[in-house]
Amino acid sequence: MLKFAVFGSPISHSLSPQIHSSFAKQFGITLNYERIQTEPGHLKASLIDFHKQQGIGANITVPLKQEAYGLCQRLSKSAELAQAVNTIGWNDNEEIWGDNTDGQGLIRDLTLNHQVTLTGKRILLLGAGGAARGILAPLLAFEPTLMIANRDLEKALLMISHYPQVAAVTYDGLLAHTQDPFDLIINATSASLDNHIPSLAPHVVNNACCVDLAYRFKEPTPFLQWAEKHHARKTLDGLGMLVEQAALGFALWHGQTPDTKAVIASLR
Ligand code: NDP
Repeated sequence: MLKFAVFGSPISHSLSPQIHSSFAKQFGITLNYERIQTEPGHLKASLIDFHKQQGIGANITVPLKQEAYGLCQRLSKSAELAQAVNTIGWNDNEEIWGDNTDGQGLIRDLTLNHQVTLTGKRILLLGAGGAARGILAPLLAFEPTLMIANRDLEKALLMISHYPQVAAVTYDGLLAHTQDPFDLIINATSASLDNHIPSLAPHVVNNACCVDLAYRFKEPTPFLQWAEKHHARKTLDGLGMLVEQAALGFALWHGQTPDTKAVIASLR
């Protein structure tokens, strides 16, 4: 049986096994997809062990995407740009290849599932961690006016060092922002995971489409609840991105592109 896994910590909540099993059913593929709890510093050993046991492909999640990047012998352009890897496999020479499908996963969800227009729009990206790095270059392909806000300004400045067209500010700096309103605000911080929201002034979300990369099933994330209260035009969570990035990974492993809409609907 074809063997896959997702590596991360914590990992028990991961929906990847469910998503990949649903995709596999669409093509009559039989596979075994497991969750493997792996602490930082232990990914290499875990992957070697997994591959010895006939594992042929893996997803990498928080907090191991940068560690995975350092372990790959072949990297896609997206992984190079993000300096993070979320999908790996082994080629015929037993080299590990790595890709990053997070950014394109978000783009597909926004543009195909929700008809959000990105070209030339004014975008505010919150956060400068792994997820923000993964989505930055794919967003810039639409030539928006893009600003990044992060608590740690140094981290944001490092992230945009190759992109002179992007501005970076702290949340305090954003308060002084008096230019045109944003069309799209993407929360790529992990604040929702702790029930927090980034410290934005309410007027910033007024009439904007607000996206949180985090998701919840019983209620909107704290950021999306707050954005709705302060008159966001539209709110979207990260479940669609999760399924879309998985579909792109599935296509890399199996050479077939699954239907995502039915899987997103069944998870909801
Ligand atoms: P990281 O740990 O790499 O980065 C966390 C970021 O969040 C940092 O920029 C940090 O700021 C910021 N942050 C944390 N808490 C707060 C807060 N209270 N207020 C403001 N900023 C805060 O995490 P990732 O980038 O890997 O993940 C970010 C989010 O994206 C998570 O919710 C994750 O679940 C989600 N995600 C969703 C995916 C999907 O498919 N839907 C895929 C990948 C990620 P600072 O640098 O100042 O500390």
